[in-house]
Amino acid sequence: MNLYDYVTNVPDFPQKGIQFKDITPLIGDGDAFRYATEQFASYAKKVNADVIVGPDARGFIFGAPVATHLRLPFVPVRKPGKLPRETLTETYSLEYGENALSIHKDDIKPGQNVLIVDDLLATGGTIKATIKLVEKAGARVCGLAFLIELAFLHGRDKLDAYDILTLMQYD
Ligand code: AMP
Repeated sequence: MNLYDYVTNVPDFPQKGIQFKDITPLIGDGDAFRYATEQFASYAKKVNADVIVGPDARGFIFGAPVATHLRLPFVPVRKPGKLPRETLTETYSLEYGENALSIHKDDIKPGQNVLIVDDLLATGGTIKATIKLVEKAGARVCGLAFLIELAFLHGRDKLDAYDILTLMQYD
């Protein structure tokens, strides 16, 4: 299975200079989607995850199937104002723009092993904010899994302390 065949590069989206990696062809192919989520599930077992966390919104697409595959809890990290109960919030910068993310304070329990799953590692801002939320909740990040790594943005440099799986790398 060559996952690269299922990613379309869209130049200048959502703004000039950005090479947007469109993963909709990959999730639109049952075999490719299944293959990718199986890779994440094997990794989740390897790092002994007991919770899967996915950031809004494409982290939901890839994180939820991993959780169901392994019968583990899935915890969404959402844009502020979406979660109804008490939350923790972190603000961060994107490859383009600014954002903030929130998590329900009690969705993750202290001491749990958390695997964070997302579609793409760019500057690492999103994942760093997600890590901070998990750690503020008292849990341990046991791994980070991405479909795509934009290696030229060096997001990985911010994540020295963590184990990382990426299924595709672009230089
Ligand atoms: P970052 O916080 O810079 O690592 O950006 C991560 C999030 O922004 C990813 O989860 C993607 O959903 C989105 N993103 C950033 N850059 C791109 C890109 N070039 N193509 C597609 N999605 C992107």
